Amino acid sequence: MASCRREPVAAPVVVQPYKRPPIIDFHSHLSLDGLDRIRTIMADSGIERMINLSGGSGRRGPEQWQAAQELSRLLGGKISNFAIPNWRGLGETGWGDREAAALEMAVKDYGFQGLKIPKGLGLGYADERDQLVAPDDPRLNLLWDKAGELGIPVSIHVADPRAFWWPLSEKNERWDELGVHPYWAYGPIHPQLLATFAPQVQEMVMQRPTVASWATLLQQSENLFRHHPKTTFVAVHFGNCGEDLNYVSGVLERNPNVYIDMAARVGEFGRHPPDKVRAFFVRWQDRIVFGTDIGIGSDGLMLGSNGAEEPTMKDVKPFYDAHFRYLETEQKAIAHPSPIQGRWTVDAAGLPGEVLDKLYRKNAEKLLNRQLLLAEAAGRKPASLTVPLPLADDRLPAWALSGAATPITN
Ligand SMILES: [Zn+2]
Repeated sequence: MASCRREPVAAPVVVQPYKRPPIIDFHSHLSLDGLDRIRTIMADSGIERMINLSGGSGRRGPEQWQAAQELSRLLGGKISNFAIPNWRGLGETGWGDREAAALEMAVKDYGFQGLKIPKGLGLGYADERDQLVAPDDPRLNLLWDKAGELGIPVSIHVADPRAFWWPLSEKNERWDELGVHPYWAYGPIHPQLLATFAPQVQEMVMQRPTVASWATLLQQSENLFRHHPKTTFVAVHFGNCGEDLNYVSGVLERNPNVYIDMAARVGEFGRHPPDKVRAFFVRWQDRIVFGTDIGIGSDGLMLGSNGAEEPTMKDVKPFYDAHFRYLETEQKAIAHPSPIQGRWTVDAAGLPGEVLDKLYRKNAEKLLNRQLLLAEAAGRKPASLTVPLPLADDRLPAWALSGAATPITN
């Protein structure tokens, strides 16, 4: 029988461009004197809200918290301030009570919305016996419990890029950064190289404390997450481990109280094949927030890191655009946002629109909703302590092993 159906007319292919929502940058460092610059930057790059991780400890009095909240007020309430503990007296009796009370005051009386823990925990803060305090030290427990009770997130920076533990030389992939700030490095430095730095820089290198290994610090941070399941943590800088997506996946899987931000690590996690990165973002789409680690003051800018050259206002929009290009397109061999962090290119991840919407905005809104966080925490069971933690792979690269016989200083 003859068919009277007509051939379907092919509809024109319309590729809908992704419409980016107003962005929430979950990782910034702002000061009141940068007000005009912050306003300009937010308008130019489509940033609706910034999470200021430098809201202060209130150590010099509540004026510090007032100034941070004043910045937000002058920007229409579009800044969310996170407080930092006052580390003075850490280890002494009463420190935990004092800091838990200070955090409660910052949140309830001043409107702060989170707690920030800098990498000094594990790498620099010492107790009354001058011993470095590890991220999982029980003397901080009251602080984590208070954050959980208040329903606020704890953005926590632990360790540093893995290459900071490798020997410092021009072969180190972080040379552009570490060659300018050799005292950021934790690995050995050859005496001949050390002698090339200015005397006060040499002095700073010599005064570096001996720190735990990269893998140990990551393990300690996971101990912390596991021991405080009712506290919500945001492990900054891609879970502090952009080098190893499998490890970060494991942390997220084992610890439902952990989120991550992606600040200042596009250059690191972007080194993995884009398919693998995309699969990671899709799998963990409810637990990752967008962040850049931008620093804005009246006379200084930081765009993810600092190198030999100071960035200017002209560099800021390209910095944000480099993030958007990486996340939204499938372009090959593009520059990552902070080239100071390594001389390589990345292949863009090309994330689906619904994943981008969560990353740019929805997950951040969730983290700033105290009632929601409290409700989520109430349903969480303590993580089983019988599951072994996989050790992160922190082997030295081949170039570092071959030079191991040369005299080194640490
Ligand atoms: Zn930061």
